Amino acid sequence: MKLALIGFGQAGGKIVDKFVQYDQRTGSDIVRAAVAVNTAKADLMGLEEIPQDQRVLIGQSRVKGHGVGADNELGAEVAEEDIDEVQGAIDSIPVHEVDAFLVIAGLGGGTGSGGAPVLAKHLKRIYTEPVYGLGVLPGSDEGGIYTLNAARSFQTFVREVDNLMVFDNDAWRKTGESVSGGYDEINEEIVKRFGILFGAGEIDQGQEVAESVVDSSEIINTLSGGGVSTVGYASEEVEETAGGGGLLSRLTGDAGDEDLDTAHTTNRITSLVRKAALGRLTLPCEIEGTERALLVMAGPPEHLNRKGIERGRKWLEEQTGSMEVRGGDYPVSGSGFVASVILLSGVTNVPRIKELQQVAIEAQDNIDDIQQESQDNLDSLISDDEDELESLF
Ligand code: GDP
Repeated sequence: MKLALIGFGQAGGKIVDKFVQYDQRTGSDIVRAAVAVNTAKADLMGLEEIPQDQRVLIGQSRVKGHGVGADNELGAEVAEEDIDEVQGAIDSIPVHEVDAFLVIAGLGGGTGSGGAPVLAKHLKRIYTEPVYGLGVLPGSDEGGIYTLNAARSFQTFVREVDNLMVFDNDAWRKTGESVSGGYDEINEEIVKRFGILFGAGEIDQGQEVAESVVDSSEIINTLSGGGVSTVGYASEEVEETAGGGGLLSRLTGDAGDEDLDTAHTTNRITSLVRKAALGRLTLPCEIEGTERALLVMAGPPEHLNRKGIERGRKWLEEQTGSMEVRGGDYPVSGSGFVASVILLSGVTNVPRIKELQQVAIEAQDNIDDIQQESQDNLDSLISDDEDELESLF
């Protein structure tokens, strides 16, 4: 499906940049527009792919292009004040060619954390197209203020979007890696998963396996109903045979081989579905109780089959307890691998969010205590013991 991507803040802009690269590299054709919004001029200048006229600097009168310094209340205020400038960039998007908006931001900082929910609310008021969010949670080693920012932004962002897809940096952190190097790899993981998911809806109907190809309406229906979503992924390399193994055995008239091939393909698909659902999700959670799910099997058409997807779908129904599990193909000739992407929409049993909220509340209490304490200390420093001195005015 065709998306208008809007990256808010540094993380948001970098991820949109990566999406554009992915789109160009794979020919997925999902990025119809790419916009970056920031309060920091340097971050906007560091982007590579987003067109210059689609980079919007907001809050110039307040922060002079230097960013909001992890103050997400200021981030939200500035976004409200300068929403017309953001709208100016969105006005140049042919919205009638777009299936949905996707607002992307790291929730731990200031600009994206505060601004993304404001923009989502604005877009929903103006357009009929769905507005989705992709929110990145901070690593638990980033400290209290980032956790507090993320917890508050998460709560607000979920309310303002049609669905909030979440990626948890904490679950993807690798020890001993430089932060920026780590982010590069993490951002690749993000665009791979969401690129395959949204790319699936971009395949034209009427191709060789037309009846089981995922349509963008299936993605939209899985996301509709709101709430929080997470995405699983698993892949396996496959050898590409000209015309496919099935065709080869048909030509040689060897029906036995073909049965074997089919069974093997089916088993590979069901195993990839399990690996994707039970492996590392973008937001780790209990999959039982998921409201809706979508299974996308991507790969060379000869390595996809209906039986595998049907079995995978049934298994997902059992595991999630959901009656709304959709599934289909995303044929990609010459990809060299078969991948399963699972969108779990409306997840509610997410220990990581509860932990984030707990740490955020503690951070908030600490900040209040420290502020009170330093105010008391300052008062006792500047006033004399007996109150004998008088201020000038
Ligand atoms: P902002 O510019 O004020 O919105 O803040 P940033 O986007 O710089 O940072 C917000 C949070 O996003 C940080 O606390 C990190 O957890 C995360 N972050 C920053 N850069 C990246 C990135 O390139 N990729 C990912 N996945 N997360 C990032």
